[in-house]
Amino acid sequence: MKILVPVKRAVDRNVKVRVNADGTGIDLANVKMAMNPFCEIAVEAALRLKEAGQASEVVVVSIGSEKSAETLRTGLAMGADRGILVKTDAPRVEPLAVAKLLKAVIGTEAPGLVILGKQAIDDDSNQTGQMLAALMGWPQATFASKIDLEADAVTVAREVDGGTETLRLALPAVITTDLRLNEPRYASLPNIMKAKKKPLDETTPEALGVDIAPRLQVLKVAEPPRRAGGVKVASAADLVAKLRETGVL
Ligand code: AMP
Repeated sequence: MKILVPVKRAVDRNVKVRVNADGTGIDLANVKMAMNPFCEIAVEAALRLKEAGQASEVVVVSIGSEKSAETLRTGLAMGADRGILVKTDAPRVEPLAVAKLLKAVIGTEAPGLVILGKQAIDDDSNQTGQMLAALMGWPQATFASKIDLEADAVTVAREVDGGTETLRLALPAVITTDLRLNEPRYASLPNIMKAKKKPLDETTPEALGVDIAPRLQVLKVAEPPRRAGGVKVASAADLVAKLRETGVL
């Protein structure tokens, strides 16, 4: 069975992002980018299924500019077999457009399973997997913390408020990954070298017949209000007095 893993190029998780000058988004000038962390977990999950002999091929796909090819190479260096770049210079491709593009890719690739990240840490949308499942009419299990694959079904433990929910889905299906599913591997230097020779195909939204025109307009992006500085108090009595003064008590 083939597994398709959509991977997004996003701001590196260690970067402290800043709002851009006109307040319409994040300042991306000279900012370090990397594979979205939940997508790394998705690649790792797919690779483990392949290593267990349960999947025949792992294909990574990314929608974005030429630079998203680097993200695909990271997936290939981790161990994926093939990459597909859906190339566009659109500054932002909304989740619905991404889901439609993925549906078109699924049309030619026919995977048995699609594993996505639960969300991309740039826009925090948490929508693409759900929209893709709806467009395909496939079952979905979001926020996966455990995946058990069988020949024609998959059992997934999902992280839900205050516990775990276990679902059994008929294949083909869509899964999105949560943090506890696994710890992704680092690509070794030899594998980074090998990844340069792995196949990486390119297509475009136009070739796939998908309109990616934005449906949403970002009105404003703002940083959280700065916290006022703290004060040290000498005793519990002082603390109570301060709390009374400020109207907290
Ligand atoms: P989101 O719904 O934007 O929070 O993203 C959830 C997941 O959808 C990501 O972790 C990826 O697996 C996938 N995804 C979103 N945008 C893209 C993209 N531009 N290219 C490839 N995969 C994407």
